[in-house]
Amino acid sequence: MAPPGIGSSSQPYYPETEQVPNRKITVLDGGFATQLSCHVNDPIDGDVLWSSRFIATNPEAVIKAHLDFLRAGADVIITNTYQSDVDLYAKYLNITRDEAYNLIKKAVELAQIAVKRYQEEFPRNPEDGVAERNVAVSTEIPALLERNIVATSDEFRAPLGKGNVAERDVAISDEILALLGKNNLADQTSTNDLKNELVQSWSKILQEVRPLIAGSVGPYGASLHDGSEYTGSYARTTSAETMRQWHLPRIRALIEAGVDMLAIETIPCSLEAEMLVKLLKTECPGMKAWLTFSCSQDGKSIAVGEDFKEVARRCYSLNPEQLVAVGINCCAPRLVEPLIKGINTMPEAKTTATERKASGRQDEHTARIPLVVYPNSGENYDVEVGWIKRDKCEPVEQYVSKWLDLGVSWIGGCCRTYATDVAKIRNEVESWCRKNKEVR
Ligand SMILES: [Zn+2]
Repeated sequence: MAPPGIGSSSQPYYPETEQVPNRKITVLDGGFATQLSCHVNDPIDGDVLWSSRFIATNPEAVIKAHLDFLRAGADVIITNTYQSDVDLYAKYLNITRDEAYNLIKKAVELAQIAVKRYQEEFPRNPEDGVAERNVAVSTEIPALLERNIVATSDEFRAPLGKGNVAERDVAISDEILALLGKNNLADQTSTNDLKNELVQSWSKILQEVRPLIAGSVGPYGASLHDGSEYTGSYARTTSAETMRQWHLPRIRALIEAGVDMLAIETIPCSLEAEMLVKLLKTECPGMKAWLTFSCSQDGKSIAVGEDFKEVARRCYSLNPEQLVAVGINCCAPRLVEPLIKGINTMPEAKTTATERKASGRQDEHTARIPLVVYPNSGENYDVEVGWIKRDKCEPVEQYVSKWLDLGVSWIGGCCRTYATDVAKIRNEVESWCRKNKEVR
């Protein structure tokens, strides 16, 4: 059986609703603490350090939980650092701040070990994915060459899936562009050599493709362990600078340890979100990230009560170079559609980059937002009791095709979703991609 995961789906396609040319779908993992509970006996929910304690106390269980998600078909796994905090670690594990900092780095190492084990378990066949890429090489690029177009980077990046901006896509695109730069495209005699070189180069890059690791950056409210990331109440009493100083050590540790990107998640207020988006620019300009909000029950607001679509657009416009996607996590699946529907068909989102250039408008606020969605199971969390209303659980996979129709390109699960749920999400994504390909 072919291994799940990277490269087995994600053909470009053109959905009829909320079109996103060359969109690729990336499957994320599920609720880390949820899956971890399958490997540990100690309680996780209610612990002041939550699942982050287990980096110190049971690293093997952490690796196993990551591995479960990879086997289920996750393209990206998220580090177990949602609740990691240098001060909390120092206080509750009775260690120094330096040791606490290194513990955050260790969380990344555990994810890296899981990826390595996964690669050993499912070694890449040299032919895996080559067919898909050969199709692109054999159709898209020669087609452009035949038109004798001197390639612009946009023209070549588009068929190669740059729209998703995962690091591997950037690497692929840059590699191709470097090759193209070496060739005189007006010289048709070099076309065959160029094609051969492209195929060889692409095959080599494929061998290096692996699941990606996103460093979890939970909100300031998570350190207060009073559930306030779901209300955003601290936004009224905490300055952006206080939050910034709190966030910096963990972000530095995650990057130092080698994450591929950051998962800035469950953010309840625009104050913290905007601060983090700007912090990316100043403190870690080479790092990509997605940004997801915790939302209220009304289907239109983020937790603190601000309008989701407005805040999402504003945050994206502040840093479209580094944000691979903006969206929502850890809300009930039924709330996702009303929250995201229309965000990319708002009048200001309809113009393309080319149209804006032609009209002289360079306002990034009009750019289309790549969307990321990973809701919880629909159960409710009661700070006193724990997870309740299991009977209200809504299988996330039932919603997948609808969200993909609405333009989502990063999709997974949050609290109370297990690796088995990720496998179901993966299946839905695969079948949706097949169906849409047939439509084309
Ligand atoms: Zn969650």
